[in-house]
Amino acid sequence: MGYPFELPALGYDHDALEPHIDARTMEIHHGKHHQGYTNNLNAALEKYPDLHSHSGEQLLVGLADLPDEIRTAVRNNGGGYVNHTLFWAIMAPGGANEPTGKLAEAIDGAFGSLDELKTSLGATAGKQFGSGWGWLTAGPSGDLAVSGTPNQDNPLSEGLIPILGVDVWEHAYYLNYQNRRPDYISAWWNVVNWDVVATNYANATE
Ligand code: MN
Repeated sequence: MGYPFELPALGYDHDALEPHIDARTMEIHHGKHHQGYTNNLNAALEKYPDLHSHSGEQLLVGLADLPDEIRTAVRNNGGGYVNHTLFWAIMAPGGANEPTGKLAEAIDGAFGSLDELKTSLGATAGKQFGSGWGWLTAGPSGDLAVSGTPNQDNPLSEGLIPILGVDVWEHAYYLNYQNRRPDYISAWWNVVNWDVVATNYANATE
């Protein structure tokens, strides 16, 4: 999937994640913010047909090789495009509410327990200064790690594969949580679909 990029469907209703994420936030976040990143990414790529076959992920992996005049636009808007596509998918309702199988083993191995992963990622995402993301990533040998990035930067540009990400831009939580980012992050764990995260982990390590 490449240029022109299209806003991916949510796959569930705007109110499906309530009470943890309210419907109005989802409407604006998906319909306005993600649509905006999508439009801006397409505008940046329009005059670069050589890049039209690249997926969003490929663009972020190869950020350093992009033409100077569009590198920042692709970093911000390609990041916005890819980050939110992952975000909607891992929040899909109805899946496992905790990790199982190889992902559970990997989490226990890396962090000790799911609760310790939540504490670590919650702390990292909670203290991310300004806008950004908290991530659970898989490295080249499948090793899991927690990290944070500013703005719409994605771990793919650092050689890591994100399998779960939490958006800590104010647009992700302000209507419901105002300045209480830690409360939003705590509630957010309730809507993580661990089946999707497990699939992401399997794809990252195959
Ligand atoms: Mn966002």
